[in-house]
Amino acid sequence: MIGPIVELEKCLSRLPGFGRRSAARAALALVREPARLLEPLAAALAEARSGVCCCSRCGAFTVVGRDPCDMCTDATRDGGVVCVVEEPADIVSIEASGAFRGRYHALGGKLSPARRMGPERLRIAELADRVVREGFSEVLLALSTDMDGDATAGYVAETLKGTGVRVTRLAFGLPADSGIAYSDPLTLRRAVNNRIPQ
Ligand SMILES: [Zn+2]
Repeated sequence: MIGPIVELEKCLSRLPGFGRRSAARAALALVREPARLLEPLAAALAEARSGVCCCSRCGAFTVVGRDPCDMCTDATRDGGVVCVVEEPADIVSIEASGAFRGRYHALGGKLSPARRMGPERLRIAELADRVVREGFSEVLLALSTDMDGDATAGYVAETLKGTGVRVTRLAFGLPADSGIAYSDPLTLRRAVNNRIPQ
């Protein structure tokens, strides 16, 4: 096989949802139809690279030049509650479920001793600042349901204790190792609507 195609396959196979076979099929389809598939993809990749960044306030994906993002500035959203997630992708999933119309805050991960992820590497201090500055009455924790997610939830709740804000978390019926980003919209809607005290 020719070098550039091998390289393309290699890149595709690193994407979630792509195995080696599907990466090989996609790579061949791309080079077979450059005008219809390869060129639009190359343009979209370049655009995603230069045109997408993360909101400096909430951490959600936003368009370069629109920071704070639309969700942070939209006056029709509930400014009294902030939903705390691990990753920007989690915000995309919760938005898609339509269950939540407040503000967001992405921590940038979760506590993990195994991966040396301590609280100083997460945007927890920024969250505490926002709770005070933006005057949220509720912090809804939408973190994963594994041990690290639980530890992160406990740490965040403890950090926010002094602010007097009400801390809740999603009522989950999810398998322990599944994250927000891979939850289906109905499960997410139920989890948001039936939230419980942290
Ligand atoms: Zn934002």
